[in-house]
Amino acid sequence: MAEKLIRIFKKFHIDEVKEHVLVCGDLTANCSKCSEVGIKLGSSTCPSCGTEFKYITFRSLKGNIPKILKAFEEKPNLIFIDYDDFKHATSSLKIEDLFKN
Ligand SMILES: [Zn+2]
Repeated sequence: MAEKLIRIFKKFHIDEVKEHVLVCGDLTANCSKCSEVGIKLGSSTCPSCGTEFKYITFRSLKGNIPKILKAFEEKPNLIFIDYDDFKHATSSLKIEDLFKN
């Protein structure tokens, strides 16, 4: 059976997601929890803070689809999230924080 990528929408607790995202660029990635940079793509945990990466996002999808497919093959439980959705959700969280103070 052919396997294809199909995007889905699902509600997440953004605080929880933010602690466990590997944010990937073209060559290296960074940890969304401690902002460590230069992490190897496909790492399971952050070498700096030790957080487990349950979610993965790519700043740009262009040219990175093979890397996404590889990440899925290596770690089938990994949840791929859309970078713009993630950015939007975390920035709206910051705005909510402003109103709390
Ligand atoms: Zn970290």
